[in-house]
Amino acid sequence: MQKTVIGWTNYTHNFWTGCQKVSTGCKFCYMHRMLEGKGKNPNRVVKANNKSFAAPFFDKKPKMIFTCSMSDFFIEEADLWRIDAWRIIKETPWHTWQILTKRPERIRECLPDDWGENGYPNVWLGVTGYSA
Ligand code: SF4
Repeated sequence: MQKTVIGWTNYTHNFWTGCQKVSTGCKFCYMHRMLEGKGKNPNRVVKANNKSFAAPFFDKKPKMIFTCSMSDFFIEEADLWRIDAWRIIKETPWHTWQILTKRPERIRECLPDDWGENGYPNVWLGVTGYSA
């Protein structure tokens, strides 16, 4: 988890990093620029190590957390890892998890079984817009 200067949140947390561009809104993706600048492949999706993955669970101070700022929470490569991510999100009701995706067509199939009609109360789920 990292503190951030993004105005609408306090922290970012990346259960995984890396993502492929899927829309015109990805044109200026900062994650791609950042990883390419370090000579890394931004398209390769990599899970965080176990300690980093679970870090928000051990942080008991409530935080707003922009989730997967360096990827897309609903990317296909993370389908197996997302089960554990949902578990951590559910078991940390003191945090607010802000999830933005450019893969809205995958949301429904990737929600946890106990999501229900209203979802988890500590999750903000949004779809980011497209740009020309
Ligand atoms: S979905 Fe997000 S993280 Fe993935 S390439 Fe597009 S802007 Fe970057």
